[in-house]
Amino acid sequence: MKRVFSGVQPTSQIHIGNYIGAIKRFVDLQDDMDCFFCIVDLHSITVPQDPKKLYENSLQLAALYMAVGLDPNKVTLFLQSHVPAHSELAWLLQCNTYMGELNRMTQFKEKSKGKDTVTTGLYTYPVLMAADILLYGTDYVPVGNDQKQHLEICRDVALRFNKKFGETFVIPDPLISKFGARIMALDDPTKKMSKSNENKHSKINLLDTPSKIKKSIMKAITDSDSEVRYDVENKPGVSNLMTIYNILGGLSLEDIENKYAGLGYGAFKKDLVEIVVLSLEPIQKKYEEILNSGEVEKVLKKGAEKANEVSNEFLEKAKINMGFVVF
Ligand code: ATP
Ligand code: MG
Repeated sequence: MKRVFSGVQPTSQIHIGNYIGAIKRFVDLQDDMDCFFCIVDLHSITVPQDPKKLYENSLQLAALYMAVGLDPNKVTLFLQSHVPAHSELAWLLQCNTYMGELNRMTQFKEKSKGKDTVTTGLYTYPVLMAADILLYGTDYVPVGNDQKQHLEICRDVALRFNKKFGETFVIPDPLISKFGARIMALDDPTKKMSKSNENKHSKINLLDTPSKIKKSIMKAITDSDSEVRYDVENKPGVSNLMTIYNILGGLSLEDIENKYAGLGYGAFKKDLVEIVVLSLEPIQKKYEEILNSGEVEKVLKKGAEKANEVSNEFLEKAKINMGFVVF
């Protein structure tokens, strides 16, 4: 069975970009692959975090993983900080990664832009991500389009390590969907929807209320004409909303265009509100049930046991091959 690894940061509330680009696709993989899905809490401290929020967001993300349909009996769900091998391998890999490689990373450039201080953790983020993936002998990594560059560096570092120290790591392939891998911000369709965007109307969170969803969609930036037409270059805002409509509502882009021909953006947005509200409703209901069941802690404990077991094998192999004394 092929192995899958992916993670989401508990930096803030999970939005529909995370859902469409990543988490929803995790659910589709769980029956056919051996999946490890991680709450990458160590990654989230690369930017300032409020400890209380980090704690809450981590448990909330675990409950959301289950609420969208991930079955803890089929997949391994765990917190990255519960598996020390991630930090340890990250150090070994840092000593095999070049600054020139990290200097090219667009995520670092974007997240450090305009900041007075930037942590070295933000700079070495891709190396920790490479460690996450390589520790599980991962074949496939389902991610959004923004993580493509980090996957490339992961592959490069693994290939270099294998060449230098002998066959150690499986070289992973990214799984980036052709459509919906980059949901754009509602207030600026030239930027991706991001947890770290402070404007609450730039995104729709999975736990948003219907009235917030309505407000965010009705305020979403479109353009000055009124034709509902898929044209990413000239109509990025409308095209982004059509992508969300298509993925959550199931209607093809062509059918959406036909349905709203001559009706303008108002009718289109109104229906989109309903589609989003209806698709999030069952997730929100399940989320409440899971939180109240006390199941989250049990699932995370069991997940950490399995993750520690698998990752320690790869870590030990890497250490032996590098020449560390391992008894
Ligand atoms: P942050 O701003 O804290 O980096 P984020 O929204 O980028 O938050 P991450 O936790 O970094 O979320 O990413 C989790 C997963 O969601 C990754 O696979 C990432 O590629 C995917 N993802 C993030 N944003 C989008 C988006 N706008 N469209 C599609 N996929 C996305
Ligand atoms: Mg991100």
